[in-house]
Amino acid sequence: MTAAWTPLGDPTLGTDHEEVGGIWRQRTGLMAIVAIHSTALGPSLGGTRFKPYDSVAEALNDVLRLSKGMSYKSAMAGLDLGGGKAVIIGDPAKLRSPEFFKDYAAFLDSFGGRYFTAEDVGTSQADMDELGRHTPYVAGRSTEVGGSGDPSPVTAYGVFRAMQAAAERLWGSSSLSGRTIAISGVGKVGSSLARLAAAEGAKLVVADVNQAAVDELVEAIGASPTEVSEIHRTHCDIYAPCALGAALNETTVPELACEAVVGAANNQLSGPEMADELARRRIAYVPDYVANAGGVINIAYERGGYDPEAARAHVGRIYDTVLELFAEAQASGQTLEAVADRTAEERIAKAARRS
Ligand code: NAD
Repeated sequence: MTAAWTPLGDPTLGTDHEEVGGIWRQRTGLMAIVAIHSTALGPSLGGTRFKPYDSVAEALNDVLRLSKGMSYKSAMAGLDLGGGKAVIIGDPAKLRSPEFFKDYAAFLDSFGGRYFTAEDVGTSQADMDELGRHTPYVAGRSTEVGGSGDPSPVTAYGVFRAMQAAAERLWGSSSLSGRTIAISGVGKVGSSLARLAAAEGAKLVVADVNQAAVDELVEAIGASPTEVSEIHRTHCDIYAPCALGAALNETTVPELACEAVVGAANNQLSGPEMADELARRRIAYVPDYVANAGGVINIAYERGGYDPEAARAHVGRIYDTVLELFAEAQASGQTLEAVADRTAEERIAKAARRS
């Protein structure tokens, strides 16, 4: 059923969501929205973003966009999970307390298992552990309490596998040995990715606003440092955005000097037209939500008792998914992004018809 309302701000969002709910609790200051895009493939899963949005409209648009993205990510990762997301509006440093999370847990309970939350920007694993004391609808808790722990190394492994697939397709060998890889943002995922690629013989160029993170990789793996403003211009085989969203925009795309873009950051394209622009410049862009699905795949393996080996094997198959995307893109003349979107939409629609 298509909803009859148009959310504030962006008329392209919201009408295809199954359910959206909000809450305000004066006693703790909890103001949150949960958006369930689809449960056709299974219960929806997506993190809780906690930040001081300027308005409820901005938060609503963010949660609608992100929850839809989670549906596509899980569908392309071959998971029996739907897409959902939550936003909490406010300053985490001021609002975070056990009572606050107790109220939030009760709100999560109200979705009766149609939405499972996890860590995202502004929330931590400790927050998930706290929530887990009050609700079963939380994933990605720490290993001490039976969760799968920090997903970043597994996410990095998935991006690494996506890079190997791009290398296979573009240069006839999946090995990254001798390839130059430029990574923008060497935080939890980017640094792990740099180490994996270096261990396979790749040459790394890295940049980060946090100089200590760069220095560590220069020391540990002999990475070449560069400026944050220069990294996308680096002459390289693969450029890996691993920091913020919208790294591929009208300014940066014309300046890229790589053959492929494969990175961990969410929402790398500033707009859908950027995928066409990259294709026009003969730069292979592996959709971010395909390359960075390792985290959600890892969390999915918490169900029925976390199995790290099975999770890692599943993440490794991102390699096959990316090769399939390349083959289909060539056959159809579409971009990898367009093929991935269509494939995800077909999987979700097929599951919806069965249910
Ligand atoms: P992180 O915060 O540990 O690392 C991000 C790094 O980017 C930090 O070191 C930060 O200093 C740096 N940075 C910030 N602004 C920058 C800029 N303008 N230029 C260069 N570097 C800059 O985060 P993370 O967990 O490594 O995640 C990185 C990206 O991957 C994010 O977009 C995140 O949403 C996405 N992602 C992460 C996971 C995961 O498992 N952690 C899963 C899927 C997607």
